[in-house]
Amino acid sequence: MNYISTRGNTAPMQFSDVLLMGLAPDGGLMLPETYPQIDRATLDKWRSLSYTELAFEIMSLFATDIPQDDLKILIDKTYTKTAFGTDEITPVRTLKDGIKILELSNGVTLAFKDMAMQFLGNAFEYVLKQKNKRLTIIGATSGDTGSAAEYALRGKDNIDVFMMSPHGKMSEFQRAQMYSLMDDNIHNIAIDGMFDDCQDIVKAIQQDKAFKDKYQIGTVNSINWGRILAQIVYYFKGYFNATNNNDERVSFCVPSGNFGNVCAGHIAREMGLPIHRLIVATNENDVLNEFFKTGKYIPRKASETYITSSPSMDISKASNFERFIYLLIGKNGDELNHLWQDVSSGKGFDLSHLLHDANDKYGFVSGKSTHADRIATIKAVWESDKDLLDPHTADGVKVAREVRLADEVIVVAETALPAKFAETIIEAVGQIDIPRPPHTKDIESLPQKVVVLDNKAELVKEQIEKFVKL
Ligand SMILES: *Cc1c(COP(=O)(O)O)cnc(C)c1O
Repeated sequence: MNYISTRGNTAPMQFSDVLLMGLAPDGGLMLPETYPQIDRATLDKWRSLSYTELAFEIMSLFATDIPQDDLKILIDKTYTKTAFGTDEITPVRTLKDGIKILELSNGVTLAFKDMAMQFLGNAFEYVLKQKNKRLTIIGATSGDTGSAAEYALRGKDNIDVFMMSPHGKMSEFQRAQMYSLMDDNIHNIAIDGMFDDCQDIVKAIQQDKAFKDKYQIGTVNSINWGRILAQIVYYFKGYFNATNNNDERVSFCVPSGNFGNVCAGHIAREMGLPIHRLIVATNENDVLNEFFKTGKYIPRKASETYITSSPSMDISKASNFERFIYLLIGKNGDELNHLWQDVSSGKGFDLSHLLHDANDKYGFVSGKSTHADRIATIKAVWESDKDLLDPHTADGVKVAREVRLADEVIVVAETALPAKFAETIIEAVGQIDIPRPPHTKDIESLPQKVVVLDNKAELVKEQIEKFVKL
């Protein structure tokens, strides 16, 4: 399978090269030339497969330059009961009102990002070994992404991780999760500043070409194709778990920020999975909701982005959105370039003439949830079902209830566990003991490894020079 860039100016590449990439050289995102088509007979066969068997069937369609036996080993090593809590890996539970919850957050950092990142960690290690390369991963995090990346890459050969986080701005639990990792290849750096300052440092280091080349700097952000691929699998598994046969159509509702998770659902639907609608749920930062309602995409600056109680969705420029828009405008790289120039300049674009396609042909619907909505939803579901939702999942359930059609079965993606966001849960339901998986029970009392630095890229570079052995 060939991979091409949405901007049309990158030579076709194979999976293992795309895996290690951030942006394509022409500034676009890499994606398969065409999405493989799954026919009815194949779907029927896949229905009874285990998670790892299904992952192998799907991933081997995309990762065509990795020998099948090796791919199988990578998958079997990643999706285990030990790592994800059950043999099903992503079980589905049903609320009293019929809404189904797809459990994607039973991995080590209690957020859905583990589903893709754990695979990526193993795949990176494998591909680096094959190519005789090493990588220095740098990143900025305000919570979920950084911890998922660190847990996926800890102890891996030929990879060092330098993760910047804003000093004193994360929850105690999130700090403990990241800073308690003692592995030699994991380096936590608390920057005296905000999340945006951390992100600016990442950019500054990437723009220093000599330094970037010398230390083989890379990232694991949500535009990474390997992450999208790993996420496609659980739409298939979630569909099979939520239905009795392949004539049933279900909708998925996805709490969204960077459009990574729901983009995987969109690709599964393009492959022929009988997904009725893809419901994009946003929080107060609602640029995606605005697009699917009006056809206008007007990204906002960081300074115009609200800090909310579903913080992992506090995003006003959805980095994966380009993969869908590329298809929507008929795979026209030149036009896409123009649209994204207007995104970069802050103007955004108006595709209202294609809104009908976005909704009808591609099945997208959207809705928005506010702080009051998510608090009310957590409280209501706790009272009716004795089921605790995390704030992001609550945004999804709120929107699902709002847009649900008669007889529509909606599967809401559970993107985190409530233990990660104790403050908001307690605001919603009062003081209770929020269940925690055993490995996180006393995490706050473990020793921590972190250096605190002034907000200067030079200081971070010094850390990289000090610790990376070339
Ligand atoms: C990352 C994240 C999201 C948003 O997912 P995208 O792929 O960026 O749309 C939603 N909820 C939680 C808990 C997350 O960590």
